[in-house]
Amino acid sequence: MLSQVVELIENKSRFAITTHIKPDGDGVGSSLGLYWLLRSLGKNAEVIVRGDVPPAYRSLPGADEIRDIEKMDGVYDAVFVIECSDLDRPGIAGLENEFTVNIDHHATSEHFGSINWIDSTASAVGEMIYNLCKAIGGRITQDIAECVYMALVTDTGSFHFPNTSDRTLKVASELIKAGARPAKIGEAVYNNYPWSRIELMRQVLDTVKRDKTGRIASLRQTLEMKRLAGAIDGDNNGFVNIPLAARDVVAVVYMREIAPGKYRASLRSKGNINVARVAESFGGGGHKNAAGLSIEGDWDEKECEIVSAIHDAIETS
Ligand code: 5GP
Ligand code: MN
Repeated sequence: MLSQVVELIENKSRFAITTHIKPDGDGVGSSLGLYWLLRSLGKNAEVIVRGDVPPAYRSLPGADEIRDIEKMDGVYDAVFVIECSDLDRPGIAGLENEFTVNIDHHATSEHFGSINWIDSTASAVGEMIYNLCKAIGGRITQDIAECVYMALVTDTGSFHFPNTSDRTLKVASELIKAGARPAKIGEAVYNNYPWSRIELMRQVLDTVKRDKTGRIASLRQTLEMKRLAGAIDGDNNGFVNIPLAARDVVAVVYMREIAPGKYRASLRSKGNINVARVAESFGGGGHKNAAGLSIEGDWDEKECEIVSAIHDAIETS
């Protein structure tokens, strides 16, 4: 819980921070926000992430110093693990031997950490990092503000997803007061893609269809589409939300082929429809309105199973 995190930071000095592989704006923004907080408190800190930082987040302060590693190679008093459902999500070997602090806002998180601070009422881990900063008596520097603002913007869909609360907007307001620039961050996230995103979007949207109720839409992305578009990771950000723009559509499943016969599926829903439960029934997880899972087998068959599970979730919502 929060008090344990505060105590740890006060009593120790060497920290690493990591997040999941292929990090999103909350993963990168919260990690860097915490990094700047620790630095402002005079602590040793570094952010370690497996793989590249997506282009949208590279202009954040400190992003250039993020180290891409496969295996733990430093000496730390503790490692903060941001936004991860389990200790395998960062994709870094040796984490199991560290003193880990699990910081997450997913209700489905396993309590894998030596310390676990889970707040499923937070819109983003960024909101938790802001609360940590306040709890520890730190000043919100411009660096912290920019990084945490990125986390909020990306995890709330620019403050319109259902997780947006009065607290979220209050925190955002404080961050802007502290120097975060909404227009700069908006440009970096939304108007900063390579053309390959548009090529990929064209192909993926060509697959969009609805089930017979007209309420569940599905999208597909094959490996071939990625190849033809010359797509890079992150080019498909937000594709899953596109069909939700239709009034009658209340849930979307977006399946991506990651190897022949293997898929990642992203689920989104409106209102009370709980797709986290659906994802969990396939071994995945997430939030009520945004969840994901991995699945193998025949594409049509698996999509049918997921759509049917979403159908049940709609009936019981
Ligand atoms: P996305 O569709 O953007 O990949 O994921 C949506 C949400 O579901 C995110 O909050 C993410 O953390 C969660 N999620 C996605 N895939 C998985 C998964 O395989 N397992 C778990 N536990 N959560 C997932
Ligand atoms: Mn998040």
